[in-house]
Amino acid sequence: MMVRDGSDLLRDFLVSNARTMDDGRQMKNRRGAPRELAERCFSSRSGARCVAIWALFVVGCGGDGSEPAVPTPPPAPPPAYAEPPSILMLTIDTLRADHLGVDSDRDSTPFLNELASRSIDFRRCFAQSSWTLPSMLSLICAKNPPEIGVKDGISLERHGKVEGGTSKVEYFAEGHVTLPEVLQDQGYYTVGISSSPHLTRRQGFHQGFQVFEEESCMLSNAECVLDLARKELREIPSQPFFLWVHFFDPHFDQKGSPPTYATPRGYERLFSEPDLDMVESVQADYDRKIRFLDDRLRGFFRFLGDRELRGNLIVVIAADHGEEFLEKQRWGHAKALTNTLLHVPLILRLPDHAYGGTVVDRAVSNIDVMPTLLDLLDIPVPSGIEGVSLVPTWTGGDSESRLIYSETQRRGLNMRCLIDPETNLKFVFDLHSGTKEVYDLARDGLELENLASERADEVAAAEERLLRWISAMEGRAIRQEGVSELSEEEAQALESLGYLGDE
Ligand SMILES: [Zn+2]
Repeated sequence: MMVRDGSDLLRDFLVSNARTMDDGRQMKNRRGAPRELAERCFSSRSGARCVAIWALFVVGCGGDGSEPAVPTPPPAPPPAYAEPPSILMLTIDTLRADHLGVDSDRDSTPFLNELASRSIDFRRCFAQSSWTLPSMLSLICAKNPPEIGVKDGISLERHGKVEGGTSKVEYFAEGHVTLPEVLQDQGYYTVGISSSPHLTRRQGFHQGFQVFEEESCMLSNAECVLDLARKELREIPSQPFFLWVHFFDPHFDQKGSPPTYATPRGYERLFSEPDLDMVESVQADYDRKIRFLDDRLRGFFRFLGDRELRGNLIVVIAADHGEEFLEKQRWGHAKALTNTLLHVPLILRLPDHAYGGTVVDRAVSNIDVMPTLLDLLDIPVPSGIEGVSLVPTWTGGDSESRLIYSETQRRGLNMRCLIDPETNLKFVFDLHSGTKEVYDLARDGLELENLASERADEVAAAEERLLRWISAMEGRAIRQEGVSELSEEEAQALESLGYLGDE
């Protein structure tokens, strides 16, 4: 629970006054602008120093030079934002961080690159799992997977030929408090649009959404999903709103070795360079799907501008996991915890592009999204969440340091990993086979050199810490399970995407 103390109130006052100054003077160079200074003061949590710095700044600016302004505290603290901003959260399935923006050797995301350059760009964000359901559940309620207890999602109680039948379903338990639930309690109108068969009512993902669309664009591309988003925005009855949209575009269409990524119509010639080897060619297919999505997003943001929805809007771009392209002899996702699977993009665009162009290199994770948004909005976080606010990472304050956790327990796997943002060491434990790996991410992002034998003491300490942590998290877990009927059609769709079966 966030507690508002004196420095919060002071920060509100400073930020509010700084905004007035920003707007009034239309400063072109925002570096060191009053609002940012105020934010830095806030993050320092040093009230007296803040007042001194602020007074110096205002006096130094001196209005038009004739009448130095002296700050006087307002009778009551204004909110950080005069009007609560709406929030657009776009999550993109299977989007690897290094296929986006500055890390890509192909121009697969020109629009997202532009957006990132005017936003806060977290270059080292990690997902909590290497497949959709646990990863997205963690993101939506800011808890690590062992507290949620969803390991396998839907699993058919059968072997062999695909056919409809009874399936065991792990639900997202109602006891968890989701981001849309909190926002709805604060007066936000909440809309969710899913295109993934994992993120459905059947598994409880609709929790907190007043409108939840899952049928219209299931497994469809960005065109369908964004048409639906436009329709919802035209009909939205009140502001502020929280709109979550999940895109399925970069996901493979058919599992296999290699899996297939069908080229969207009109994109056949893009990235089709001569002499691509097989793996490069598959990645070009993948990038074409990403580019298709990127182009649709550009049009969607134009629509937001036309409807004057872009001004007081926070935008989050995130992803549930990445994809493997034979780097470690595997295709697809869910089967390991490599960086190719866990390193995902995270872009946060604030109203008026505040702090635009900020790059955060510190390791962060998807469970930090919810507390960050709530911190920005001055909304108390629910008890029991494990993510932390990232606001100090761009305002220069003291950010809370804690280990980043990820896992996959898909299809009987039991792999867990810890990333230490301080040392950049990543520990991977296969709790079935007993295999232990440790990589120094600062110099070995491709995870080529397993340092487990030369860092045996650190591995043992990390393992002990991990097991204690898992046990504590499982002790707090809120779980719910049930059975459900899958139609033949549903079963076949899930099977073709690798979501059912014995792999
Ligand atoms: Zn996914």
